[in-house]
Amino acid sequence: MSEKQAEWPPPDLDFNKPTIARAYDALLGGKDNFAADRALAQYAIEHVPGLRESAVENRKVLVRGVRYLAREAGVDQFLDLGSGLPTVQNTHEVAQAENPEARVVYVDIDPLVLVHGRALLANNQYTRVVTGDVRDPEAILGHPDIAGFIDFDRPVALMLVGMLHYLAPDISDEVVGAYRDALCPGSYLFMTSLVDTGLPAQQDLARITRENLEEGWARTPEEIERHFGDFELVDPGVVFTALWRPDDPVDPDNLSPGEQLGMAGIARKP
Ligand code: SAM
Repeated sequence: MSEKQAEWPPPDLDFNKPTIARAYDALLGGKDNFAADRALAQYAIEHVPGLRESAVENRKVLVRGVRYLAREAGVDQFLDLGSGLPTVQNTHEVAQAENPEARVVYVDIDPLVLVHGRALLANNQYTRVVTGDVRDPEAILGHPDIAGFIDFDRPVALMLVGMLHYLAPDISDEVVGAYRDALCPGSYLFMTSLVDTGLPAQQDLARITRENLEEGWARTPEEIERHFGDFELVDPGVVFTALWRPDDPVDPDNLSPGEQLGMAGIARKP
């Protein structure tokens, strides 16, 4: 657990203003949210067909991706950036089911994540939670709870799951590039993002998110792929989340609206 003590209530907690983490928790049917978050989630559900399903799909691909990284790629260090509020099958639970000593650091800008993570992880010496802004890679990578816990000379899985679309276009290349540069060969980058394949719902969601939560950008598949730099994409590349190594067969020609909101990819640093 982080050495930083979590305060309750966190000093900058505003119940009346929705946050990304809490609205997403409301979408997933969680309990760590307030009326303003639920109202925004409901508004977005009414305007974006399949939104709730897409959030569930995003969690499912997170589980499959972390399992792949821990089991098949043999990674035992995870830096989960924009980790969100704890829900079912969190990164550390999936990774540590494969390797009980896998190290996981959760980073999120929302102070509630630290509060809830602290309760969940009180007895877990291999998992930490840090409050930080992903847009500041130097501060994140130099944070004592990260730099002193993750060995960057060994492979790391860096996760920007459900997070890339909160990085504005004018900073995202530089920010993601800084994280890629900090990783040693054999490390992995795992990203999911709101996508723009020309469906109105995709840009509608980006707009609703931007208007209510300040950030929110839908990217084309090519733009998402560009953020992997020269890392080598593992099969099947950058695809709709439901199609990334599904547990059960999925018909790519019959995706529901919710299955067409986000894409996922994992790539390895050569
Ligand atoms: N990674 C989880 C998942 O995929 O289920 C949570 C995704 S949630 C949609 C996005 C998370 O990113 C939220 O918890 C939000 O607080 C966090 N976030 C957004 N911008 C951030 C930033 N600049 N720095 C750190 N966290 C950020």
